[in-house]
Amino acid sequence: MFRMGGVADDDKLDSETTKRVLRRAIGMAKPFRRTIAAALGFVLLSTLGLLAGPILVGYAIDNGIDAGDSGVLLDAVIVYVVVVVIAYAASRQQYIFVNRAGEGFLRALRIRTFEHIQRQSLGFFDRNQSGVLISRMTADIESMAELVQWGLLQFVAAVFLIVIALVLMLTLSWQLTIAALLVMPIIIIASRKFQRDSNAAYLEVRERVGQNLSELQEGISGVRVVQAYAQEHEQTRQFVSSNRSLYRSHVHSIRVSTWYFGLVEALGVFASGLAIGVGGWLVARGDVSIGTVIAFVLLLAQLFEPVQQLSQLYNTVQSSAAALDKLFGILDTEPDIEGGSQDLARRGDLVVSDVGFIYPDTEAPVLRDVSFSVGDGERLALVGPTGAGKSTVAKLMARLYDPTSGTISFGGIDLRDATLHSLRHRVVVVPQEGFLFGGSIADNVRIARAGATDEELRAALSAIGALERFESFEDGIDTEVRERGSRLSAGERQLVSLARAALIDPAVLVLDEATSSLDPGTEVIVERALDRLMVGRTTIVVAHRLSTIQNADRIAVIDAGRLAELGTHDELVGLGGRYAALADAWAQSLPT
Ligand code: ADP
Repeated sequence: MFRMGGVADDDKLDSETTKRVLRRAIGMAKPFRRTIAAALGFVLLSTLGLLAGPILVGYAIDNGIDAGDSGVLLDAVIVYVVVVVIAYAASRQQYIFVNRAGEGFLRALRIRTFEHIQRQSLGFFDRNQSGVLISRMTADIESMAELVQWGLLQFVAAVFLIVIALVLMLTLSWQLTIAALLVMPIIIIASRKFQRDSNAAYLEVRERVGQNLSELQEGISGVRVVQAYAQEHEQTRQFVSSNRSLYRSHVHSIRVSTWYFGLVEALGVFASGLAIGVGGWLVARGDVSIGTVIAFVLLLAQLFEPVQQLSQLYNTVQSSAAALDKLFGILDTEPDIEGGSQDLARRGDLVVSDVGFIYPDTEAPVLRDVSFSVGDGERLALVGPTGAGKSTVAKLMARLYDPTSGTISFGGIDLRDATLHSLRHRVVVVPQEGFLFGGSIADNVRIARAGATDEELRAALSAIGALERFESFEDGIDTEVRERGSRLSAGERQLVSLARAALIDPAVLVLDEATSSLDPGTEVIVERALDRLMVGRTTIVVAHRLSTIQNADRIAVIDAGRLAELGTHDELVGLGGRYAALADAWAQSLPT
């Protein structure tokens, strides 16, 4: 079972890493600097509008109401209304600009990550499970969305608001400011505790969401197996239990935060009370005007919400930084298979010399000192027990991996020095089960060469003798294959996979023969398609069927990662070794 999110410990970054990650993200946001600057301008404007209110009220009370001047009062009201309209417009614009920059940033990041993942070699996918990669592109980018969509905006707005409000309060009356800020130490201590607790609770929730998602994912994609064994109840039971944990962690996280918000609000009221009390005393002494005290109290009321917001944002920043750190980890992985500069010749011998191989992240060598060559147009069958390393040899010959030691060359050029373009055109691997994408049969064949015309597709299908079959479908080659080709039979899926190879028209075919047998009728069609595809090409086939082995020019017996025997059927039988024993066993099992 894979995890969609990371484990909780991964989600915590030390402050150094957080800073480094955020700095790098800011660097990536450069293309959006104008939009961001515009957003900041609107944030500033709407904050000023918000804070102008209390000042105008104070002014109107002192110079309009108190002084009995209705003209001043009216002016103040009109200015207030204008300010409110401007602030409203600015606040709308700030959202639009911030989201434009934020979504643009996420979009660029998604594309960059996807492109990067597509370029990685098979070794990368051995190391990174697809579920984890998907969660990088969804859950992790999603957790950043919160920050870039409204988190940054709130952060800037809150900082502007606090700074400007404090300056205004100090200009109005420093005595009142000191009185009001007496509650500050309690707020600071409470905020620290809140950040710690809620961060822990948040990480817990994320972890549970990840587990719940992977239960869900497995439950849906494994539904056929579940139903086949009538395990629906058991699956649901597991889901119910993981859901319960998710529910509990959510409730806990709410409980952790409620005391804090209540406390900050109460302290806000308390501070206002203090300001009114001290203010009343100052008014009585004639030090300040009533309007000043009221303006002050109104400003104070604006101050506490941004303080709460900043505390909440701390978590958002932390989790976004953790998500970014993971994404950067992927972006920093250089593909291990990079193309060289030489174009491979049209034809040539494939030469494997002294090849040894160890899979990434494993220790035991899977291949040792394997050397042989396959002549132009020759058919070589790889045989041997399961796990001997036959498929691995095939994968190396198509450079899906690079050998750990030794070399593989085509026409005298080391595959590592060949351009990826020429390599993928000369050597094509046909996997046991070709993956089918959503779309039509034609779309699926076209995967091999995006620009292929309809005529070329038909030619490829007809070259392997599959055109007629597909044309007999109601929608012909435009028939939708549905998810993973569920509309097609196993044999038809293989035909699509062979047609892809035919479309490329390669010099070398590397085939992994299907171990599972098809129904006899389809099997004949697939075999014929294969035969037609192999004509005039060098073929290396991981063979499971006797007929394939007998039709090969030579046979290589792989055993425990070594080349045990190599020669024609007759030679190997004459040798009286492993192959001879295998051939004997086959002969015995054949119906007489
Ligand atoms: P064969 O095709 O002869 O059945 P393979 O070449 O598929 O054998 O596998 C040879 C050995 O390499 C096996 O022990 C297998 O477990 C191991 N192996 C295959 N693929 C991987 C992989 N992607 N990562 C690690 N080990 C692998």
